[in-house]
Amino acid sequence: MRIAMIGTGYVGLVSGACFADFGHEVCCIDKDEAKIDGLNDGKMPIWEPGLEALVKANVARGRLTFTKDLVAGVHDAEAVFIAVGTPARRGDGHADLTFVFQAVRELAKVIKPGTVVVTKSTVPVGTGDRIEAILREEAVTDVSVASNPEFLREGAAIADFKHPDRIVVGAENQHAQDVLKEIYRPLFLNRAPILFTARRTAELTKYAANAFLAVKISFINEIANLCEAVDADVQDVARGIGLDNRIGPKFLHAGPGYGGSCFPKDTLALLQTADEAGIDQRIVRTTVEVNDSRKVAMAERVVHAVGGSASGKRIGVLGLAFKPNTDDMRDAPSIPIVNLLLEQGAEVRAFDPVAKEQAEKIFSGITFSPNAYAAATDADALVIVTEWDEFRALDLKKLAGTMRGKVLVDLRNVYSRDEAEGAGLAYIGVGRGKI
Ligand code: NAD
Repeated sequence: MRIAMIGTGYVGLVSGACFADFGHEVCCIDKDEAKIDGLNDGKMPIWEPGLEALVKANVARGRLTFTKDLVAGVHDAEAVFIAVGTPARRGDGHADLTFVFQAVRELAKVIKPGTVVVTKSTVPVGTGDRIEAILREEAVTDVSVASNPEFLREGAAIADFKHPDRIVVGAENQHAQDVLKEIYRPLFLNRAPILFTARRTAELTKYAANAFLAVKISFINEIANLCEAVDADVQDVARGIGLDNRIGPKFLHAGPGYGGSCFPKDTLALLQTADEAGIDQRIVRTTVEVNDSRKVAMAERVVHAVGGSASGKRIGVLGLAFKPNTDDMRDAPSIPIVNLLLEQGAEVRAFDPVAKEQAEKIFSGITFSPNAYAAATDADALVIVTEWDEFRALDLKKLAGTMRGKVLVDLRNVYSRDEAEGAGLAYIGVGRGKI
């Protein structure tokens, strides 16, 4: 199949490279010239395990190309995917569909009859209808519009794309279903479940999935608060409930709250959709509130750990990316935590294995350290914000030896109290007994 991918970000680039790997001919399009020039020179715009090798292999096979020219990329495609950003609109949290509609108007000029336009971007219910209306306005006929939301996780994006729990396709006619079935044929043959639904249902499924995961995270964070008040251990509670098949062990890690490019904006967008439909979504609304207050509470935990005032204190921070194995800083929990510490007059020294370049664009007034031990040197407290693997095997005695304050604030529960105390560090985790 000949596929055009409009938007070559996390989702567009990973999807494009994987489709090419399935044997399709893929042209990835982006209006960001630097991104396309870089890709044509073999430079990846994001840090994602395995991506560079996959992209280079498929470019070498002649199946994956990159262009800034939408007309050239789209004109002979059998399927055109839209994978542009849908950020939260300032002020109301509604999904901003400017990029989506702009892409539709551009592709309308060149698209051929019989082509299937597929939204891979996360878009509110009814966006497919609005895309159809734009195509009609532009006098485009005989083009199908389908929804194929993406569920990949950054940091494990390629594995997720190639071994998905499910593929959701919202299509309103047989032709669109057949085209998408053909595109996903290798996964279909591997028995990945493909769910065909109405288009609106597919659009809502993506938001429901992300909102549910956000609920799970906020739920365990509230249980963690209770554990601290009643002297119980949230790790054990999470294991105790997670082994129940009806609950499952994932997304039950107490921590500094969810962040990243999806959960915060998608929960807000779901609330907007619900408001417009006149249906209150109280659980999701509360989840958002719990998560917002979580960041402040975690920063206050650090302040408390250094004696109640951060002014003049040196705080080491380990991990800035919103999760391990990515350099994505969008809505990372580190942002409000570090900014609050800075506002209170702390000196922050941070280390992240890959996100420094992205973090430099966000923070002003912090020092970047070359490794975890340098971040800890002379620190009054060391805070683990992102649970990179390399932070799981630190020499705690060595760390303690370099620190001034000898307090470890472990917001990801990477270490046990015994390990930390054995190394001479005071330990503050999340939801692990009375604090
Ligand atoms: P991104 O910001 O990394 O990439 C979007 C790209 O689209 C940018 O490179 C931008 O320059 C390009 N673009 C915008 N308008 C364009 C146009 N008219 N023509 C050509 N290119 C254009 O975004 P992302 O993280 O890949 O997310 C894309 C969508 O996928 C969003 O709706 C997001 O919610 C959804 N999604 C993201 C993830 C994730 O983990 N990042 C997972 C699932 C779904």
